[in-house]
Amino acid sequence: MTGLRGLPSVDALLQTQQAGELVASFGRPLALQAVRASLDEVRAAPPKSMPGTDALLERAKDLLLEWTAPSLVPVINATGVILHTNLGRAPMSRAAIQAMQAVSLGYSNLEYDLERGQRGSRLVHAERLLQRLTGAEAALVVNNNAAAVLLALTALARRKSVLIARTQLIEIGGGFRIPDVMKQSGARLVEIGATNRVHLADYADAIVEESPRLLLRAHRSNFRIVGFTAEPSLGEMVQVAHAHGLPLLDDLGSGTLIDTARYGLPHEPTIAESLAAGADLVCFSGDKLLGGPQAGILVGRKDLITKLKKHPLARAVRADKLCLAALSATLLHYLKDEAEAEIPIWRMMAARPEALKERAQAWANTLGQGQVVPALSTVGGGSLPEETLPTFVLALEMASPNRVLERLRRLALPVIARLEADKVYFDPRTVLAEQDAALVEAVRQVL
Ligand SMILES: *Cc1c(COP(=O)(O)O)cnc(C)c1O
Repeated sequence: MTGLRGLPSVDALLQTQQAGELVASFGRPLALQAVRASLDEVRAAPPKSMPGTDALLERAKDLLLEWTAPSLVPVINATGVILHTNLGRAPMSRAAIQAMQAVSLGYSNLEYDLERGQRGSRLVHAERLLQRLTGAEAALVVNNNAAAVLLALTALARRKSVLIARTQLIEIGGGFRIPDVMKQSGARLVEIGATNRVHLADYADAIVEESPRLLLRAHRSNFRIVGFTAEPSLGEMVQVAHAHGLPLLDDLGSGTLIDTARYGLPHEPTIAESLAAGADLVCFSGDKLLGGPQAGILVGRKDLITKLKKHPLARAVRADKLCLAALSATLLHYLKDEAEAEIPIWRMMAARPEALKERAQAWANTLGQGQVVPALSTVGGGSLPEETLPTFVLALEMASPNRVLERLRRLALPVIARLEADKVYFDPRTVLAEQDAALVEAVRQVL
């Protein structure tokens, strides 16, 4: 153990030029911790030959890089899944990013009424745009759609019954299950009908027997029921609800302001349709087909929205200034009829197969390998279950595709690709145009 005595002291190490650089980059307290940790490692398990000053400081630097490496980083999404929940759902428009920057580099009028020079409400910021876009009397933005459902059920039906069809007892993933959310809200869940079929009469009977406060309809975001099935239309449900003076909440999940049929996809229910059918409240996510920040948006009757706004839970699930800024900028794209040009997910949705083929071909040409083959992109994100868009991908055939996928994930700018038919597929649809060069460089590095 005599060798340990030969170790330089912390002070001696700190006087070196290398240590000076570590202090300059990482600050003195953290650099000091790293130098101590480096020495402690050697003392805890002394190696045969004692490390010198250089080796000890090299180790300290590695520790500093490890401790300060960001955990949340950008990635290139080459999976072809447009709304990939694990990859942060919707990428945002430039205007949305700029709006967030504008209100967060300094102060903002988040809750300040500039005209009157006194306290205002953060709730006004996106509401005006939502009213104009949807024609709804009122709107409320909260943290996410799960919170929107929870708030609506709590404020409108706590300790009372809520009717929902058995065909709609959904689990979205990430722990969002309608029955669990209802339990949290304190509302009593009354299941209507059978797993495959529910009829208007089921609602009418349950209204008489259970005296509910609310009817809930939930969009089957991530699955389909096929075969011998039946469900009343939203309009029919609304009629039954209103005949008994009851409100109906329509949880659209994704919800969209643009008709997806434009892109050869099946029709995803739009917010306007729900309101037109008479839903009293409609709720949807900000970062699914809306293509904005994480948010839960409620639109509908003013008296109900006012009740929600006043509920104590609204304070706990409120949207922050970044969300409100980005959401307003996103909504403005729709208002100005420029969503397809400005909102990334709609640009991806609208990308034509020929254009995608050209990009995949350009990647293959630059790399000098791989084939361009037809494949399918998906929308994802709890919308349009199992629906696909025709695309062309760069396909690389290799001995160990899983190792290549892993190496791609470990890059400083990680690339997430997908494995299909033992090949690694890179789908240009979800790769932002400005990432083309980075993607090609990444693939070149791992090959
Ligand atoms: C996605 C989804 C939710 C949850 O929305 P978040 O914004 O992720 O909280 C709720 N209901 C339905 C029907 C959904 O599809």
